[in-house]
Amino acid sequence: MTTAAIIVAAGRGLRAGGGTPKQWRALAGRRVADWTIDRFRGLVDYIVLVLSDEDAPTWEEFRETDLILATGGADRAGSVRNGLQALENHQVTRVLIHDVARPCVSAHLIQNVLNALDTHQAAAPGLPVTDALWIGHDGSVSGTQDRSNLFAAQTPQGFHYDAIVKAHAAHPGGAADDVEVARAAGLEVCIVPGDADNLKITRPEDFARVERIMGTTMDVRLGNGYDVHRFGDGDHVILCGVKVPHERGLQGHSDADVGMHAVTDAIYGALVQGDIGQHFPPSDPQWKGAASEIFLRHAVELAETMGYRISNVDCTLVCEHPKIGPHAPKMKEEMSKIMGLRADQVSVKATTSERLGFTGRSEGIAALATACLVKA
Ligand code: MG
Repeated sequence: MTTAAIIVAAGRGLRAGGGTPKQWRALAGRRVADWTIDRFRGLVDYIVLVLSDEDAPTWEEFRETDLILATGGADRAGSVRNGLQALENHQVTRVLIHDVARPCVSAHLIQNVLNALDTHQAAAPGLPVTDALWIGHDGSVSGTQDRSNLFAAQTPQGFHYDAIVKAHAAHPGGAADDVEVARAAGLEVCIVPGDADNLKITRPEDFARVERIMGTTMDVRLGNGYDVHRFGDGDHVILCGVKVPHERGLQGHSDADVGMHAVTDAIYGALVQGDIGQHFPPSDPQWKGAASEIFLRHAVELAETMGYRISNVDCTLVCEHPKIGPHAPKMKEEMSKIMGLRADQVSVKATTSERLGFTGRSEGIAALATACLVKA
């Protein structure tokens, strides 16, 4: 069985305010779409992201990832059809179709929909309507509506792949969701219990509601790192992964990348997993002259294994020379590449210590770092 999730993110969604489509607006420190995509990681074999061709920078950003990209259609159904088509050669048997604006969907709910597909060709979460329902005209109640057997529809809506492809091909258009498309093709749709927290961001105030929901489950951790290496012979230093020409080099067991060591220790610190020395003992000859990238990658993988995502890191290099400023953009780029982060999640900056102390006397370079890790 091969599974996929199609996340429809091509809509303009301006009703939620902010002037930017809602899926690209910030929510608890990252974008709505980033949260939503992560919910499906590890639960399906492929994730398809359907993007509008108006979102060119976003295309560039996601092209480098493991996501399959598809172009949005003229309407939501068109976008879903393009997403389905992008999976054509992937031998997918089951597919989940999800609104990008539902970032709180739980692993439990996703799994329940997938499980229901063992016995049904289609399954989707629905919440029984519990409020009394009115019909209103001009601000007054003009009637009531029986609420028994009524459900509020949610996503992800799950289908056997071939069945939903056929259903979409045959549908004349105008359906409210994929369940309507499936039913029009005669598929029986199993109702899986929905989740009140799986709300769809629609109005401006929904951002605060979703942050409240996430806040109850989010584990935010900070870690700090500090490192010093002494100057010795050499004609360059390596700082945050970048070779910088200098009249002296830094001494150390590894490549002495003091900035990368501080960031690595900050991540270990946030995870309460000791420090570099503990994971890569200096007494072990195999780490002699090692590229510090090995240490940083290890810390990042450990975070991932423990279920944490790195939200941002900030590193300060302390030295009089070499001048860091001209190299800082390259350092940020190098560090973000190694950590698999976006450039706007990594800060590298520098300060002198006004010629005071050991850094002021140019006896060595010090580095401080902070890392913020999040488990949601
Ligand atoms: Mg060190």
